[in-house]
Amino acid sequence: MKIDTSFLIGTDFETGTEVAEQVLNPRTGELIIEVPEASAAQVDRAVAAARKAFRTWSRTTPAERSAALLRIADRIEAEADGFAALEALNCGKPINAARGDEIPAIVDCYRFFAGAVRCQHGAVAGEYLEGFTSMVRRDPIGVVASIAPWNYPLMMMAWKLAPAIGGGNTVVFKPSEQTPLTALKMARILAEELPEGVVSVVTGRGHSVGNQMINHPDVDMISLTGDIATGKKILDAAAKSVKRTHLELGGKAPVIVFDDADVAEVVEGLRAFGYYNAGQDCTAACRIYAGKKVYDKLVADLTSAVSTISLGLDDDTQNEIGPLISLRQRDRVASFVNRARELNHIEVTTGGDPMGQGFYFQPTVIAGAQQEDEIVRREVFGPVVSVTPFSDVDTAVAWANDSDYGLASSVWTKDVGRAMETAARLRYGCTWINTHFMLTNEMPHGGLKQSGYGKDMSSYALEDYTVVRHVMVNHG
Ligand code: NAD
Repeated sequence: MKIDTSFLIGTDFETGTEVAEQVLNPRTGELIIEVPEASAAQVDRAVAAARKAFRTWSRTTPAERSAALLRIADRIEAEADGFAALEALNCGKPINAARGDEIPAIVDCYRFFAGAVRCQHGAVAGEYLEGFTSMVRRDPIGVVASIAPWNYPLMMMAWKLAPAIGGGNTVVFKPSEQTPLTALKMARILAEELPEGVVSVVTGRGHSVGNQMINHPDVDMISLTGDIATGKKILDAAAKSVKRTHLELGGKAPVIVFDDADVAEVVEGLRAFGYYNAGQDCTAACRIYAGKKVYDKLVADLTSAVSTISLGLDDDTQNEIGPLISLRQRDRVASFVNRARELNHIEVTTGGDPMGQGFYFQPTVIAGAQQEDEIVRREVFGPVVSVTPFSDVDTAVAWANDSDYGLASSVWTKDVGRAMETAARLRYGCTWINTHFMLTNEMPHGGLKQSGYGKDMSSYALEDYTVVRHVMVNHG
């Protein structure tokens, strides 16, 4: 497939290192393009440009920053088809998911923050000592090193950039080495719509370019969406100079299905939200706890529903999900399923194997899983959903909470009181009731426990990317 890579021209590649990352098409395993890794000097230049730009960008008015965010939103919207095609190519997403679901949410993210930034206030607090007036300011933090994963490249970029630059910070942004293409296309738009240095995009691997960014003495804050292990490395690096951190890490979302739930609705929800993006989603509905009375029907109906998920068709508009991001990821998912298969109590009721060319993996249901099984405890990040029966609500809640992760969860029941009580007991950043996966830019997204902290989306994200300061006036 021929793609328009003209946006790559004019990037700072020519002075880069000799290291190049091969960006592959997950549908075929074929090379799309080689993207050179930023040199140490390039990262230094990007941070220096961000530091310089901070002096003026941090003094712009909310109205000016809002206008810039609106222009960025308009540019993405105007080039929506190109962005969607590139994202679909690089990540293997079905074009309908990229164009229909993701791009509109990304455009809306920039527009939401364009509005939110104008509503963010400090506070005039008043006189707490005679003759002195205190006020609270909300100020930007400085230079933010933003590091993104491969599952939603353009969306993670929006979640990070919009509140950071909206709050008056400047950013050095690194996409995943596996999915840099839409970020590079964005780099050109950002260069046209923002003053120099407000956002720089650098490409490269985590252990080299990312590592330099997080240890850079001129970086004030690190924002990561990624793996827990990467988050821990960032905390180590941040500790050396006490940098602020914002971490969105992994997830293993529990789904509690009570006996009175509408099984058809649950199955429809799980088919959509357990397998969206081929399960490469930190909120994927992947760990089902089903009441004993409903368990058999749920497993049977889910199995038939999941076996109809379409993928790998030549006509991409008919595909519901795509392949996994890489061969490594496919092998990792396959090894989880194979280890689960060895357990006598487990039955793989549909799927369970790699398929076709490229990095496809069959949508998989694993029945009879038990709480201590690896497949229930570890993040698989693939199209694999396990189902475990439970006998009482306390056990279901205890199992759901018995996890290092704390990002997202859901409860399915017709009993409103039970739903609300269970939601209150779940230790997750988000609990959905009779749905799963739905996000909106007005509401916060982020985890508890080892899923990290700090919120994406919503006005809470603006708070995370700004700092509260006290200014006192002596007028006595
Ligand atoms: P990853 O941690 O391997 O990589 C994420 C980013 O960190 C990449 O850009 C990578 O280059 C960089 N990186 C890796 N090592 C680094 C280091 N030592 N120093 C600095 N940067 C480094 O994660 P991934 O495999 O790209 O993404 C999958 C993970 O992301 C999953 O665990 C998933 O749950 C998580 N995720 C979380 C959310 C959320 O909102 N909580 C959203 C999407 C993905």
